[in-house]
Amino acid sequence: MSARTIEADVCVVGGGPAGIAVAHELIGSSLQVIVLESGDASFDAELQDASHGQVRSDAFGPDALAFGRRRQMGGASNLWLYRTIPDDGRRYARSVPPEPIDFEGRPGGVSPWPFGMDELRPYFERAQRMWNAEAFDYDASTWRSEVASPLPTAGGHVRLRVAQHGSREVFGEEYRNDLLRADGMEILTRTTALSVSVDSGGRVTGVVAADAGGVALEIRASTVVLAAGGLENAQLLLASRLGEAASGGRDLIGRFLTDHPEIRIGYLELERGIDPYAMTDFDVRWVNGTMVSAFLTLDEDLKRTEGLLNVSAALVGQPPGFGSEAHRAAHAILSTPSHRSLLRLAGSVAGAARRPRELATYARSRLRGTPFREFSGGWSQQPGLSRVFEVHIAAEQTPTADNRLSLGTATDRYGRRRLDLDWTWSAADRANVDRSVGLLEAELARAGIGQLRRWTVLGAGDPPRFSGVHHPMGSTRMDADPSRGVVDADCRVHGTDGLYVAGSSVFANGHGYANPTLTILALAIRLADHLRRTRTSGAATA
Ligand SMILES: Cc1cc2nc3c(=O)[nH]c(=O)nc-3n(C[C@H](O)[C@H](O)[C@H](O)COP(=O)(O)OP(=O)(O)OC[C@H]3O[C@@H](n4cnc5c(N)ncnc54)[C@H](O)[C@@H]3O)c2cc1C
Repeated sequence: MSARTIEADVCVVGGGPAGIAVAHELIGSSLQVIVLESGDASFDAELQDASHGQVRSDAFGPDALAFGRRRQMGGASNLWLYRTIPDDGRRYARSVPPEPIDFEGRPGGVSPWPFGMDELRPYFERAQRMWNAEAFDYDASTWRSEVASPLPTAGGHVRLRVAQHGSREVFGEEYRNDLLRADGMEILTRTTALSVSVDSGGRVTGVVAADAGGVALEIRASTVVLAAGGLENAQLLLASRLGEAASGGRDLIGRFLTDHPEIRIGYLELERGIDPYAMTDFDVRWVNGTMVSAFLTLDEDLKRTEGLLNVSAALVGQPPGFGSEAHRAAHAILSTPSHRSLLRLAGSVAGAARRPRELATYARSRLRGTPFREFSGGWSQQPGLSRVFEVHIAAEQTPTADNRLSLGTATDRYGRRRLDLDWTWSAADRANVDRSVGLLEAELARAGIGQLRRWTVLGAGDPPRFSGVHHPMGSTRMDADPSRGVVDADCRVHGTDGLYVAGSSVFANGHGYANPTLTILALAIRLADHLRRTRTSGAATA
């Protein structure tokens, strides 16, 4: 029996922030758009199973491929967690633009983007409005907490930056509903794209898909946008055997995958002279109806001269006694004992017992207050302001060909080959982050702000905090030269007419420390403008 056929001008594969943004920007154009979403409106564990694959990594766990993916309308935004006091019931993610240096090539293999920050600025402004309706203003002074006196960073190399936070409900609910109501738009949920079809001239003719029961479906469209997430975009290109010929067989698809390794590096103890109110900027909090939080980084010139990968440091206020030897010993006792030797356990018990007063202080404050984490703000609203701050590092990674996705031998419910992942966090990248933390430590001490006390030296090889990929970038990277990248500066797959990629897989490098979604949205809006200009209605191949 032949597959059911649907005609459209544009087929968008994926109903996460990228796919929804492209489709939403095409509302009101003359183009007939169909969005295919593998998941349902709500989570379905059976459908999610197709996100698993084999992992070979010294740093991630066996579930690393599924860890940050969600087969559901709204995609991975369903996993966002940020909230603060008062809690409005919605859940948010950090919106952070990259710095100009993040678009530049740097020694050690950091590849450049084909354009700089200025090219994307107008799209960042539109992305900002699309996501959280506030100005594209990331000047920390605009978002200063009313009670905060500024930190004495002037004259040094430390920079205070700010994240705004955008809500997940914008994509999976509000814009989804706009699409359902709009003329010329259709969403098919529980429908998984299996491959993209092209004719003998390299022109896209459509997508082969299957519904949740495995029944085949053919979408005929002369324009296809892969917006299936930072991992599955590469999977679809590999399964379709597209995009490789233009590179002269250089086997680029799936390679140069980067993530943002995160690590809790230690804690900052404020100097006596520093007013703790100066630290309230770092809390996740509301300013004029926008959720914001500040973080630290080093200035761009220092990063250039020192050849540093980009790094950010978020600070989370913690109760008295946090970080003390007694607290750390208690933590060691309570954390999973399976991999701990009895000798170390005994050492921890002895360490805690040696400092009963410190231990009691920490235990009392923990019993009284909420344990704060970086995504649950509100610590600056508690009585008795913190003078101790846990330091969360988010780091850039160098794109390397060996960190890659490929098609494995196992298959999923649709008969597709699952992804395999090879990923390491190199010693050179860890050491680079360690140098940045050392500079930050020296700068904070020099400015008289506080002592950054490290728990770990990354050169020693601690794994990142997350056990899987959460910001998958670069596996279909952008480069004007097809021998170096998979898509061109318009996000079009080299060597094909009508095939485009939306999402962080097109990022040319590891994108500094900046969380990816704001840039994903900027690129999606730019791509939709390009499609409006260049693709015509009724062009579907018969
Ligand atoms: C725990 C966590 C926290 C995060 N926090 C932040 C943050 O603070 N700030 C930030 O900027 N980013 C954050 N991110 C990253 C953010 O979620 C992603 O950047 C964003 O969701 C990417 O959007 P996307 O549409 O490209 O991909 P996805 O969100 O992955 O959506 C892809 C969609 O495509 C569908 N799909 C996949 N394959 C197919 C197929 N073959 N056919 C049809 N449909 C398919 C999937 O079901 C999914 O709905 C976080 C991610 C995680 C996991």
